[in-house]
Amino acid sequence: MAHPKTEQTLVIVKPDGIQRALIGEIIGRYERLGLKLVALKMLVPTEAMIEGHYLLDPNWKKNVGTKAIESYTKKGEKPPSSDPIEVANLVVERLKRYMTSGPVIAMVWEGAHAVELVRKITGGTEPRSASIGTIRGDFVVDSYQMADSDNRAIRNLIHASGSVAEATMEIPHWFASGEITNYRVPHEATLYDSDIKSILG
Ligand code: ADP
Ligand code: MG
Repeated sequence: MAHPKTEQTLVIVKPDGIQRALIGEIIGRYERLGLKLVALKMLVPTEAMIEGHYLLDPNWKKNVGTKAIESYTKKGEKPPSSDPIEVANLVVERLKRYMTSGPVIAMVWEGAHAVELVRKITGGTEPRSASIGTIRGDFVVDSYQMADSDNRAIRNLIHASGSVAEATMEIPHWFASGEITNYRVPHEATLYDSDIKSILG
């Protein structure tokens, strides 16, 4: 089995993240944890790339719809539809507009538990309810209600793979294998070597 330190996850700084000048802040959050940036590029995605990205996981539609409906129900409010798939179809159309509106930065981050830890630092989908200390909780104010009433996607600065399975499908959707670099950084020894006896001279 591959060492856990080789786990990779896809992160995309969405168009609003670039407009808000948060590229450095976002990269810094993952970097300071000890994760390693192994691929990065700026591009303006096409609608086909965005639709393809969100439909890679056959369960995504049901999950995204259910999550939105639950958020409304928890606040005692009525969701725009009670059918998760109907909600998801709306979201896909909104995401195509949002994600093609300007440049994005796609990245691959590598390290132990990269998928889970990047999600933890990034925070929940809805900035309104995302925890304090997370990027979405600290830097942006959007909600399901505002997005629905303006018929647009929730602006939450970042995409991050939701599971190892999702990351495995998403990374090749955005990067050719030759665009991902295999290299070492010195702090990996402190994070991962089985002993650190060799520090003293
Ligand atoms: P996450 O990005 O946290 O993994 P999802 O995969 O569930 O979230 O949804 C993908 C993206 O679609 C979200 O980041 C957000 O920009 C947008 N989105 C999700 N649900 C809605 C919704 N109900 N209305 C508008 N936009 C949404
Ligand atoms: Mg997701």
